[in-house]
Formats: sequence, structure tokens, C-alpha cells
Amino acid sequence: MAEAGSFAERVKQQADIVRVIGEYVRLKKSGQSFTGLCPFHQEKTPSFNVHPVRQIYHCFGCGVGGDVFKFVMELDKCTFPEAIRTVAEKCGIAIPKPREHSPEERRENQQRSALVEMHREAATFFARQLHEAPEGKVAFAYLEDRGLDREAMKRFGLGFAPSAGDALLRQLKSKYPEKLLEASGLVSRDQARVPDGQGGHLYDRFRRRIMFPIANESGKVIAFGGRAMGDDMPKYMNSPETPIYLKSNVLYHLDRAKEALRQNDFAVLVEGYMDAIAVARAGIANVVASCGTSLAEPQIKLLGRFTRRVIVNYDPDTAGQAATERSLTLLLEKEFDVRVLALPGRADPDKFLKEQGAEAYRKLLAQAPPYLDYLIGRARQMDRTTATGKVAALNFLMPYVQRLPDRLLRSEWATRIASELRVDEPVLRESLRRAANERRGEVKAKPELVGPAVKPAERQLIQMLVEAEGRLPDGQGLRERIASEIVAHSLHRGLETEKIFEALITKVGERPDAAALGAALEERDRRTLFEILFDSSADATWESAESCLGVLRKRLVDQELAEIQRQISVGPSMGEILRLQRRKQELLQAQKSLEDL
Ligand SMILES: [Zn+2]
Repeated sequence: MAEAGSFAERVKQQADIVRVIGEYVRLKKSGQSFTGLCPFHQEKTPSFNVHPVRQIYHCFGCGVGGDVFKFVMELDKCTFPEAIRTVAEKCGIAIPKPREHSPEERRENQQRSALVEMHREAATFFARQLHEAPEGKVAFAYLEDRGLDREAMKRFGLGFAPSAGDALLRQLKSKYPEKLLEASGLVSRDQARVPDGQGGHLYDRFRRRIMFPIANESGKVIAFGGRAMGDDMPKYMNSPETPIYLKSNVLYHLDRAKEALRQNDFAVLVEGYMDAIAVARAGIANVVASCGTSLAEPQIKLLGRFTRRVIVNYDPDTAGQAATERSLTLLLEKEFDVRVLALPGRADPDKFLKEQGAEAYRKLLAQAPPYLDYLIGRARQMDRTTATGKVAALNFLMPYVQRLPDRLLRSEWATRIASELRVDEPVLRESLRRAANERRGEVKAKPELVGPAVKPAERQLIQMLVEAEGRLPDGQGLRERIASEIVAHSLHRGLETEKIFEALITKVGERPDAAALGAALEERDRRTLFEILFDSSADATWESAESCLGVLRKRLVDQELAEIQRQISVGPSMGEILRLQRRKQELLQAQKSLEDL
């Protein structure tokens, strides 16, 4: 995250993570690190650890972890630049004036500001078309028919893109070069080839559509969603991704919802623009729309800065219930408290509000069941009169339960499910309980119990590869020898820690930086790495490294032996048997010499 030489890097070097976190959490020294009660989950015994040397924190209970900036970002729910300022202020580090940008950055910044300005003009243009142009009357009538009055249209900046095909283009052409116009996604280029090789002419991307401006977090219009009038296809058309618009980074209406999200500490998540507008008009300002059924991870992160409680009110009829459930699962994984509002009569929020009114909607919102209750409801609709039916219902639910990051919560839900589905058979109960306890990459309460899948040899090697200089006369030499040995024989292939080894090996020439390594890894691997790093350090000598590498070598030999045994057992030709036997002898010898080490 922190680039070398940047202000962030300087703050990170000077800031003391123990001091900064110590302002939020009461920390006690314990061995070489500090522990305290985790501020990110409820607990009575401390499982939150801060490492003063590696400058990282990690919770063995809920699995959060990172560097000092990540801590401030997550706790204060702020952006990276804001976290840098906070840390700098807490540590008394002077904040410099904005630094000079490189010519390239300046060009990109200029392009972005020009695109934002262009979108502002386009939004004004579309709104004027809706309210003033003769052609906009149809669109206006259509919106009125959907229950929006002039005031609402103005409030949400709605507009109309005329059918002419170059109305917006004519507005913008005099001010912006063609290249920028194309980059904006507001105009397209005719694909038909023309003789001079210049490509076709430019035309408006949106024609005869109702326009919904899509704003970024700070309220600047950065894209548009266009809804077709009548039967034009596609029904919805959005701006393409541009230098200012990344679909997965934007939630519709977030700019207007921010305050209400913080105040109410929950979000209503709906699918489309019209739904968000309808809910907001009903006086529930803390509504955002994903604009599509599947929610992307960056959108979840964005929302998580304001609240971690979500009531999902998707249109039950839309295609992709599976996609919906996938994104809800992602929310669960990120430890959001997820509730589901399924409106009666399979209505979407817009329709329901129009027919039943805001009061009825609020009431249902308040009663929205937790996501797992909703799923249990669905499981109960399955045929549970037979044993197979019951197993099917359980198998439908278990993946969701297993995704809950908290073990206690998982076991609670397992009990609930057993009673709700009337699972009396002890065997089923037991498998349910076991499934709830097992979780890939699960975090255990105590470091020494961490992931049986990660063998001591792997742990020690990882510790040696991260070990900062100073402990050994030639720490760097040792790290390089270990890395080259692992690479030469692909000793890490197929290990639980394969990705961690890969990251460590590619960075072996640099000074080890635990936080940076963690940030480059997938969350599950980051957790494993931090758990290993908070464990007491290995005895970093070439002898102990060699014996760990021996364990990994032996694993490969064992694997190949098993494979050869399998091939012999299927009865190949005589010549093949002889070849396999010879190889088996070699491997047995290798196995023996590795055991003698
Ligand atoms: Zn925690």
C-alpha cells in the first residue's frame, strides 16, 4: 500500500503501531508482542495481537489483520489518505503540502477532471431535455406515471437523452477533443470502416432513454444509467467503464446516503435506480443500489466503511437468484450482519411502496429476518418427509453456515437448523455439528493450535523467510538459500501454504515487510501468514532449515511412491512393471536417507 519514498511510507516507518493502536485498545505486553481485547469482535479474553517489530496486528479470534493504516481505516471507517493523516497526527509527524506530480500523473488528473466536468454538463443537458424539450414530454409523462413528480425528478437529477443521435455530441464537440469525448463513454464511434482509415463518425451513446446520473461517493456524476422508453432494447444501458467509472467501485445513491448510513448504522440494499429512488422518497435515506444482482467485493468494502449491517431487498423475480445468493454469501464472509426482506407477492420495492405505502414498508423492514433464517425458510419448503430430502435440505444450508467467520455463531446456527428442520437422528446431528466446526482456513483461538494443515516444517521455513536481518550474521544469505532450494525442487507445490511461499520467494531479494506481503495475499492466506508470524520465532540456522526442507522433500517422495504403487496395482505390462519397480527402489532409498537426517 505504502509506496517507497512516499509520505505514507515515511509515516509508516516513524509511527509506532503499538502506540497508535494503544490509543484505541488497552494493550499488555506478552512475550515479544502485545495483546488486548479485539475492537472488531466481542470477546472476553484477549486474542488481538500487535507485533512491535513486524509492525502488524492480527486477531486470532476473528482473523482481522494488517498494518497500522489498515487498523485506522477499519476502525475509523475512513480512506487510506485519511488514515495516513490520522496516524501522522497521532505520532506528531508533520504533514507535507501536496507533493509535485509527475507529468504523466498530471495528465491523468487533468483527463479525469475534464471527464468529470463533461459529465456535469451532460447531466445538465439531459435534465433540460426532460423538463424543457418537446421530445422530453413523453419521458416526463412516463416518469409521472411511475409515481415521480417534478420535484423528485429534480432531486435525483433525472434526465432524458433525445433520439436525434448527436444532440449531446453537438453540445460537447466545441469544448472537448474527440479523443476525450470517446474516453467519456458518452459517445460512441461508428464501427463501419471508412476509406481514410480514421474509423467512423461519432454519435451519442444514449438515445431516447431516461437518464439516471450515477455519482461517486463525493457526489460527482461519473456515469449514467439509461432506461429505454417503450420496448427499445436493451432495457437498461449503462456507461462503459472509463478512467472515472469503475462499475464494481460504485454504489448508486451512496453519495446521498452516507450520513443516514452512519446515523442508522444499517443499509437497505436494492437492485435498481428506481427502487433506490422509491425507498429514499419513502424517507429511508440509507438506501443504496448495487445496479445488478451480483455485488462485487470492492462495493462491499465501500459499504463497510459506513456500516456492516445490511438489509437486502432484491427483486425476488429477477434472473439469477444464484447470483444474488452468491453476493449475499460474500457479505456474510465479510462479517456483515445480513438480513433479507422478501416483499409479499414477489413485489419489487418500487411497486410495493406505490401500492402499500411507506409505513407498511418500514414495518416489514423492521421485521426482516437474518439471512440464515430466510434460507432456513427456503429449506423448509423442500421435501423433508424422507431421509434423502432432509439431507438435501441440510446440504443446501451447510455451505452458508460454514462461511460464517465466527465459530460460536456457526455452532449456534447448526443447533438452530437441527431443531428447525426436525433433525433428530444423532448421526445427522453429529455431521451437522462437525460441518459447523470445520472451516477451511479457520482461525483457532490459540496460535499453537493453528491449522493442522500447516505443518511445523512449513511454519518454520516461513518464519525464516520473513525473519528480519539482525538476528543472524547472514540472515539474507540463509533466506536466499532456502528460497532457491524450494524453487529448484518445487517443494511448495500443493502445500496449504503454497501461495505464501510463492510471495515470499519472489520478494526474497528485498527487506521482508510482513504487512506488504499480507496485503498482496488473498485474505485466507494473509491470516495464515500472520498466525505463523505471531508464533514464537524459529531457530534460524541452516541446520534447522535443512531439516525442514527434508520434511518437504520426503513428502514429495511419499507422494510419488504412492502413485507408483497405484500404477503397479493396476497391472501394467512386464516392461512397465520393471521400470516402476526400479523407480520404487530409488524412492525407498531416498526416503530412508531423508529419515536418517
Ligand atoms: Zn477480533
